[in-house]
Amino acid sequence: MKIRTLNLLKNLQDKTVFLRVDYNVAVVNGKIQDDYRLRASLPTIDFLKSRGARLIIASHLGDPQGIVKSEYSLKPVAARLRKLLKSPVKFAGQVTGERVKKAILNLRSGEIIMLENLRFEKGELEDDESFAKELASFADIYVNDAFAVSHRRQASVAAIKKFLPAYSGLLVEQEVRALNKVLKPKKPLTVVMGGAKISTKAPLIAKLYSEADNILLGGGLANNFFKYQGKEIGTSLFDKDSAAFLKKYFVRNKLKSKIILPIDVVVQDKKGRVRVSLPDKVAKNESILDIGPATIGLYAEHINKAQTLVWNGPLGKFEDNSFKQGTLSVARLIAARSKGRAYGLVGGGETVSALNLTKMSEYVDWVSTAGGAMLSYLGGEKMPGLEKIISF
Ligand code: ADP
Ligand code: MG
Repeated sequence: MKIRTLNLLKNLQDKTVFLRVDYNVAVVNGKIQDDYRLRASLPTIDFLKSRGARLIIASHLGDPQGIVKSEYSLKPVAARLRKLLKSPVKFAGQVTGERVKKAILNLRSGEIIMLENLRFEKGELEDDESFAKELASFADIYVNDAFAVSHRRQASVAAIKKFLPAYSGLLVEQEVRALNKVLKPKKPLTVVMGGAKISTKAPLIAKLYSEADNILLGGGLANNFFKYQGKEIGTSLFDKDSAAFLKKYFVRNKLKSKIILPIDVVVQDKKGRVRVSLPDKVAKNESILDIGPATIGLYAEHINKAQTLVWNGPLGKFEDNSFKQGTLSVARLIAARSKGRAYGLVGGGETVSALNLTKMSEYVDWVSTAGGAMLSYLGGEKMPGLEKIISF
């Protein structure tokens, strides 16, 4: 595999770099809830800035669908970046246009301007060439450090590369190297998967199946398997199309023997009563909301033997205190086993939030800032954002 890394850029002095980052963070009433995505981009910014480049930083925030909506403005994000860098960051207020162009032309070596939310423009979402050309017209070099959106065919990660020489940022490079370790794993490889939607996870389970020694399931994902086995799952979360998925990926290809399902579950009935149940003793008026204690024990045995660990998807509705134990236990087990005894990789929006609740993220080898993009990469899909930057 070849990556067009920043080290290939020998002279950056007074070059204008268009840096695509992923600052898609939760902003509530103008307050940023978690700035880890900003912090993850700092090494690339420092690299470019310290070599005298002029920087245009561009990101999306949420999905305003091509319409300007003030609650999706990147202004508070620019303010936070200023704090983190302890140096000025100009905010363009718009994505393109004469005023923005002028501000960019006035940038001096080492200075930074952040554009407004790219998704205020329909051209971004439609991967529109003339929009991409306009973005590119401001710069000499394009750097993609937005791994988390690299699975999307959108102008700032795809079409823009028709107009500028493209390179990978340091975060993209690190992400890709970390994910590659999992694709060629030290064995045993234990995969832990949970979360909500089987449609997004089934392809990945199928892809990792041959390398994996075992695949431990939980969350809404496991409910689909129970349902398929003809078990009563009451009012539990499940995908109504799951039977088709399970047939396509698992039954037809005989992918079953390595898949391990919970041996007990935590359920809640309509009146809010919570109990631990065997998977085949769930009542019609109950929902499965977590894995049970025996399952935690069983999963611990597998995790403690692994040399490579991959975890995506909470094992229960961990946002609710009554149903967080399974997810947090697995998070702690993975953190305890990682960095040394196993190579541990954790990714996914909610999964990383759950890991952060344990305050143990630093104990995991790689915590991916990407959810969907990580699944795409590991699933072997072609990613528009990596074209021309990474060759396999
Ligand atoms: P990630 O973003 O980490 O990839 P997902 O988006 O797949 O994870 O799923 C996360 C959500 O799934 C969480 O918000 C969690 O509450 C929910 N979830 C997991 N298990 C269950 C369950 N048994 N019942 C209801 N919701 C669940
Ligand atoms: Mg999610």
